[in-house]
Parts: sequence; C-alpha cells; structure tokens
Amino acid sequence: MKILIKNATLISMSEKRKKIEENMDIKIEGNQIVGIGQNLNDSTVTKIIDATNKVVMPGLVNTHSHVPMSIFRETVDGYALQDWLNKKIWPMEDKLTKEDIYYASLLTFLEMVKTGTTTINDMYFMTEEILRAANNIKVRLQTSRTLTGQNSAEMQQRIEELNCLLENNMGKQQRITFNIGIHGLYTSNRECIQQCVAFAKEKNLPIHIHFCENKQEVEDIKTLYHTSPIEVLEQEFSFQKLILAHCVCLTNEDIAKLKNFKVSISHCPISNLKLGCGIAPIAEMLAQGINVSLGTDGQGSGCNLDLFETMKYTALLQKGIQQNAKLLPAYEILKMATINGAKALSLEKEIGSIEEGKKADIILLDLSNSVVAKPLNDLFSTIVYNAKGTNVVTTLIDGEILMENRKTLYEEAPIFEQCQKIIKRIQ
Ligand SMILES: [Zn+2]
Repeated sequence: MKILIKNATLISMSEKRKKIEENMDIKIEGNQIVGIGQNLNDSTVTKIIDATNKVVMPGLVNTHSHVPMSIFRETVDGYALQDWLNKKIWPMEDKLTKEDIYYASLLTFLEMVKTGTTTINDMYFMTEEILRAANNIKVRLQTSRTLTGQNSAEMQQRIEELNCLLENNMGKQQRITFNIGIHGLYTSNRECIQQCVAFAKEKNLPIHIHFCENKQEVEDIKTLYHTSPIEVLEQEFSFQKLILAHCVCLTNEDIAKLKNFKVSISHCPISNLKLGCGIAPIAEMLAQGINVSLGTDGQGSGCNLDLFETMKYTALLQKGIQQNAKLLPAYEILKMATINGAKALSLEKEIGSIEEGKKADIILLDLSNSVVAKPLNDLFSTIVYNAKGTNVVTTLIDGEILMENRKTLYEEAPIFEQCQKIIKRIQ
C-alpha cells in the first residue's frame, strides 16, 4: 500500500529536523517512510490521509509493561508493591488460562493503538498468546518469557521455555523482537541470575529487569546477595545491554556507576507513585548522559497506557522535587517518549522518529477543537502538558492504518466483555 499524508504539522523528532514544520507531506510505501517534504505528489498512491490542522509525530514507545495485566486495572489501591504482588496479583495469575492471556493482551494492544503508542516492551509469561494477540492487532512488540526461579533447576526450566519461544519466533515477524526478561534480583538468587546472564550472552540479547523499585526491594537484595544492587550489577551484568525498569532508589554514586553500563532506564512515574515507591532521580541520570525512556508498567499499578499522561508527570515531578523549573524542557520529554524509547529497545534505526528509510509508525493528533490547546503558544509544551491519548485520531504501525479518525479495525465490545468476565472469575 502507498500512503500519502498531506498537509501536516510535522514533529519528526529526528536530529535533522528539530523544528516544527508546517504543510508537510509524508509518503509511505509498504512499511517504510520514503518521502518527507512539501507538495509531494504521486498518482500511484492508494490512500491519502488529510492531516490539515493535525500534528503528525512518531508513534510513542512504551519501554516497560506487562501486557496481559490490563485486566488488573485498579486492583491496587491501598497496597504496597510486595503486598500487592503476594496477596492480590500472584494468586490471580495462577488462575489465568491461555485464552485469558490472549484477551487481556488484545485489550492492551487496543489501548495502545487508541492512545498513540506504537511499540511496547513486555515482560510476562504464556508469551505465545501475547504474540498471537500482537499479530492480530498488528502492534510492534518486544517481549520475552519472564525468568524467575527459586533454584537452579527451576530457572533452567524457565530458560528452556524462553529458548523454545525464541527458536520458534525470533526473526519470523519483523514487528516482533525479543529480549531476556528477568523479573528482578530480589525474586531469584545469584546462581539463577548467573544462568540468565549466560543465556542472554549466548543469545546476544539485551536484558530487561525491574531494578530498585522501592526501599524494600533494595533491602531484600542486600540480604540475599550480601551487597548493594548496583554492586550486583557490576559483578554479574557488565558488558550486557540492559533495560532497567524503575531505578527509584538510586544514589548519585549509584548513577555515576550506572553510566559505565550499556544501559537504558525505563521511567514509570505513575506506577511508582501509585505503589508508594517514590520518584526516580532521572534528572540526575539525564545529566550523566544515561538514556532515559518512558514506561507505564502494567495497568494494575500504572492505571493506563496513556504515555501523554506519563510525559506530563515526568516533567512536573522532576521540576518539583529538584526545585528547578529549568529541568526537562518539553522537547526532551518528547524524546524520552519516542527516540529514547527506540534506543532502549535497540530499534533506533527503525523507529522513534519520522525519517526517510524508517518504519512508518506514525500518529496524528487533532488538537484543533481542544479548548486546552487554545491559544496555541508552544506546541511541544501543549503536547506534553495538555494533550491526552484520546487526542490521537489516527495510528499507523508498520505502514498499516490501525485507527483512522478514532475508528479502529477491531470489534472492541467482545474484548471488553471477555476481559470483564476473566477478572470476575479469578478475583
Ligand atoms: Zn513492572
């Protein structure tokens, strides 16, 4: 399919085009962006999208989630992380069937498309069902089979399951990529972690892991490993490409050490606030040149997948806790939600900005009737502070139009109904 997006206000997020450009056209052939300019015309295009009065920007990248946890939305109020997992989540997860995982994943992918996220990084289990849902909705997904184990034999079994998943699926579908998802240092012992890292090296894949989400976790790691979390990283994970989710409880010395790793942070402020974990010191991480991207975490703790909301929290929290209004200008926040996310997932050559040769993962925002976008002064700030996922009217992933003028390709009601039934059954 050849698509021509006409007359856009373009925010490309590319190094070459940092300014907002008006009256821009974007030409797409198959899954690729092939032209960006004014007055592009091509009589062979099969579809024209009129972007008059609309903002065209790269689809957002969510670097930490648990895709099927959509069904646990609003089950968390009043629980701290460990309590919530032990008393609520893990007992419910034990009851989940493959079909449940499939429907819960459909709900998440639908939510992505409807709120402008085009790529998501997932950590869960029964991953074949998550892949089935991703192929149905056609989103871009990076996933794994989460590794946790109480002993070496149990961990080996999980690694074999992940190996099987990789053998069957890696490289087969270009929207789908993989990493090595390890739940956390506090849920596996050192020997198990060593097995995971050895496997990641063998497969040459990055590791995605929860890291220093709250004080309790840091204490548990100290007890289990007889040293600090950052030292465990130094001892066991050096040279490995890492995606660290959360990083709430880090000191400035820890951050200085982190700089030496091939590391990206997935900052999940809403989940961190809701679980009473705290606020990650990301302004310091950015100052040290560490790549910081944005995540929502599962909807159980993160409420929803609306990365526009996450962008606003990210900016406000750092300005507030550091008592420094100059921190994190709106454009930096937009980078965190797009190109920094792509870098975290090793996909920066393919997505994260609108550039010729990149994949057509593009969203259109309509702010023309939004009272909170009037008057329009600074568009970057308007998007960060006053846009919402529901302002996204059209979503393209891999050159396919998955939502146009708020209408998706999918039967939404049966997905909603099924998910309501699941949570009723397992609660
Ligand atoms: Zn998480």
